Amino acid sequence: MTAHGTLDAAIARMTAIISESRHVVALVGAGLSAESGIPTYRGSGGVWTKFGEPTIDGWELFQEDPAAWWEAALNPEAQLTDFARAVEGAEPNAGHIAMAALEAEGKLAHVITQNIDGLHRRAGTTQLTEIHGNRSFVRCMNCGERSLLAQIKIRQLPPLCEACGGVLKNDTVMFGEPIPEPALRECYRQAALADAFLVIGTSAVVYPAADFPVMAKRRGVPLIEINPEETALTGIADVVARATAGEVLPALVERLRT
Ligand SMILES: [Zn+2]
Repeated sequence: MTAHGTLDAAIARMTAIISESRHVVALVGAGLSAESGIPTYRGSGGVWTKFGEPTIDGWELFQEDPAAWWEAALNPEAQLTDFARAVEGAEPNAGHIAMAALEAEGKLAHVITQNIDGLHRRAGTTQLTEIHGNRSFVRCMNCGERSLLAQIKIRQLPPLCEACGGVLKNDTVMFGEPIPEPALRECYRQAALADAFLVIGTSAVVYPAADFPVMAKRRGVPLIEINPEETALTGIADVVARATAGEVLPALVERLRT
């Protein structure tokens, strides 16, 4: 089947599918950011593989004592983790840039990213749901308003929302923390609207994100996987490009232009 064809044939097939589609949605995972030098959590060389998974009660600890969490987070003496250091030095890569071009050229309607590094935004993608949050933002626990961390005034710990007085939390979704309702609703809406679905650099094992492409596929929507490695979705994908996003997406942009 097509899933086992050459890379060139896979790119030709996805070009045909996308040019016939009106609402293409992409689900993106850590594989895309890895091309910007940001370590993935799982897999060989992954942060969790090397150092163990983070505490599963992060959300509980935050709720118990948000001031203590903020104090630790704002401590100038604190060592940046390898992950934080990598994110701070990272730039959008060819894959991010190609996705922003696809949006600008009307070929990509929405991006659902599991990455918290903000690289899609920096590349110029605007139709974006950051389902696990964005580490440059804070979010009000009461009204849900998101603001840039760098722009809030921290008068006390925990910092409070200017609009409603609620406690501010870093926007990154912690272990045990529910995904914010507006983000989740938007993802389900996009999964229902999609007429083609791209799955890029994600092992598709983290729920609910892994559900969105499956929901679309159940309606008969073509599923396109771009990933150097086999994933849980490979078996149901209509087209599989066994390569990195940085190799595949710029080629896709070029072909869609001709
Ligand atoms: Zn608020």
